[in-house]
Amino acid sequence: MRPKILDELFKPIETARGIGPRLKIRLKYLIGESIVDLLWHLPNNIIDRSYNPTISKAEEDRVVTMDVTVLKHNPSKRRGLPYKVTCIDQTGEVDLVWFNGRKQYLEELLPIGQDFIISGKLEFYKNKKQIIHPQHIALSSKNINLPNIESVYSLTQGLTNKVISNHIKRAVDIVPNFNEWQDKEFFKSMKWPTFSEAIKIVHNPENENDLDHKNPAKQRLAYDELLANQLSLALLAKNFEAPAGQSIVKDNNLLDSLYKNIPFELTNSQKIAIEEISKGLEKPNRMIRLLQGDVGSGKTIVALAGLFQASGNSKQAAMMAPTELLARQHFEGIKDLCAKSNINVQILTGKTKKSERESIIYDLSNGKIDIILGTHSLFQEKISFHNLGLVIIDEQHKFGVHQRLSLTSKNSKNPPDIIIMSATPIPRTLELTAYGSMQVSRLLEKPMGRKPIKTIAKPLSKVNEAMESLQRLIKNGEKAYWVCPLIEESEKIDLAAAEDRYASLKYIYGDQVGLVHGRMPIDEREETMRDFKYGGKNILVATTVIEVGIDVPDATFIIIEHSERFGLSQLHQLRGRVGRSDKLSSCLLLYRSPLGEKAKKRIETLRQTDDGFVIAEEDLILRGAGEVLGTKQSGLPYFKIANLTIDRELLETARNDSNYIIANNLLSNSERGKNLQILLHLFNKKEALKYLEAG
Ligand code: ADP
Ligand code: MG
Repeated sequence: MRPKILDELFKPIETARGIGPRLKIRLKYLIGESIVDLLWHLPNNIIDRSYNPTISKAEEDRVVTMDVTVLKHNPSKRRGLPYKVTCIDQTGEVDLVWFNGRKQYLEELLPIGQDFIISGKLEFYKNKKQIIHPQHIALSSKNINLPNIESVYSLTQGLTNKVISNHIKRAVDIVPNFNEWQDKEFFKSMKWPTFSEAIKIVHNPENENDLDHKNPAKQRLAYDELLANQLSLALLAKNFEAPAGQSIVKDNNLLDSLYKNIPFELTNSQKIAIEEISKGLEKPNRMIRLLQGDVGSGKTIVALAGLFQASGNSKQAAMMAPTELLARQHFEGIKDLCAKSNINVQILTGKTKKSERESIIYDLSNGKIDIILGTHSLFQEKISFHNLGLVIIDEQHKFGVHQRLSLTSKNSKNPPDIIIMSATPIPRTLELTAYGSMQVSRLLEKPMGRKPIKTIAKPLSKVNEAMESLQRLIKNGEKAYWVCPLIEESEKIDLAAAEDRYASLKYIYGDQVGLVHGRMPIDEREETMRDFKYGGKNILVATTVIEVGIDVPDATFIIIEHSERFGLSQLHQLRGRVGRSDKLSSCLLLYRSPLGEKAKKRIETLRQTDDGFVIAEEDLILRGAGEVLGTKQSGLPYFKIANLTIDRELLETARNDSNYIIANNLLSNSERGKNLQILLHLFNKKEALKYLEAG
């Protein structure tokens, strides 16, 4: 239950005065559901009106506030030309300029001979001074006091700064004086303002410095947000780990037979990860562990060691992949190893025939099947296990971790241990905010003998050469991916670009070319992928949907068109599709010149390193945490105020603070805890609060 003190702030945003249906939609889109969300919408700039020169003294590119008299109206002579109103003072002339200005409206607004105070940015155009779309026009006689400093907010179409400022001001005014939820000593030592003071300060910057993220008021709010994030993750984790769990002890015989049968030496990281997982399985309480490893780092075998440990304890295990093709790939990869150790492994997907499906489901319930592979839908179906001990989720690059976890914790008298495999190297900073206290094993190195992928960048004008170069490749029995440009605004244009490329390649290479894209039915897409992996297709044209995790060792060349439009991590993932055998592989980044600074840096980074963690950190710096991995969509938390690039230390402190709070059970049993609950409400940590209330 939300404490009464928050009632006003949590009214729906549309209950604020003067918000009609259209504005409501815009505000919801830009800001959020409740009044409280207005508080998190911080100004990104200020207008300083303290500069009041005469016209002749007014300097270019500054916001000026001047006393003027209207001299003349100059309506636009043609469509597309602006409407200008010439104004004067004793020293000179200035034009006020409107594009698409309505004549009647402007004539009424600015009658000739009247005195006004105008405000806006002064520019020069053909040696004349002008102000385009003045921000303020007020009758001098009215003596309206323009605020000297005005906050500027990011806007969406149809919302003016004035409107949004007014709404935010009202929201700021109703923030109560909460009891302090921060640790008393810490709060004192930081010399931060209180929450309500901080909110006031950040919305009323007095100079450029006040906009800085390191400003104490902003830092305080950033810390609040991070603390709320860490507390809620800790609460969620506690809830998942609370059930008793199972102890699955190590089985050395099975492991030895596994090691004997794999054709390679394990990397050090793999050995360590296997050991960590083994120990975690052995503990009687529930394990939830993230297994992180770059593409090709060899996660499957680590997972398999866990699956074997379960089998050795006569417990069933399940491994889920994001697509049927990847599930099959896992199956092909491990079925022989399982057979050699007398472990019964089966695969169940949407493609499994009815009769076979029924017998698999039957054998799962009676315990005949030891290991089941499948897609994520495994857990949505009505399958009952005999004694499920371990679930492995191959997330690849999707992060809906907590959702997945909730799937597996339904029938939880004796919940299985869980390992989540993630192929995207998440920077440590993000890891903490996304997974909190979840245990993590990392594969830091690649198997020996992998050759580095040669990475080349060329302007798009070389596209024909690239198309022709595939000839030689195919003759050698090798395969190539052709990735088409990413156009964020429109899937349709994406598709058109891919189809065009497909047509032009098909013209040269005929049926050896395949096309996959996101709008295809999944069946058709997987069929084409299969043809590329096992069958007659040698060139695969794809939008970015090409399966992360797909393993086609014969593919040795990847071409990425308009590579300047892709994020760094994305480029790295795409490049990881090649370099999966002992053959030399290369990656061609076609770009549209001239390259912007950031795009240049991305391509440079990519050419310099193949280390996913380095790339992920660089990506974080280049794009800011909010955008890394398409954060909003990916399920990683999205921060309203905190900036993970800048606030790493704050995050560490917040984590320690949170650990202390949870370890000492302060949330439900102390005065500070009551105040912290307000904090969780403010940042809308509903799920965590639910667990807190449930005890
Ligand atoms: P990912 O981490 O991307 O899932 P995989 O588990 O699919 O990687 O492994 C990629 C390839 O590397 C597979 O063909 C696998 O057999 C091979 N592999 C895994 N570990 C090693 C190793 N230690 N030495 C050599 N090859 C390995
Ligand atoms: Mg994999």
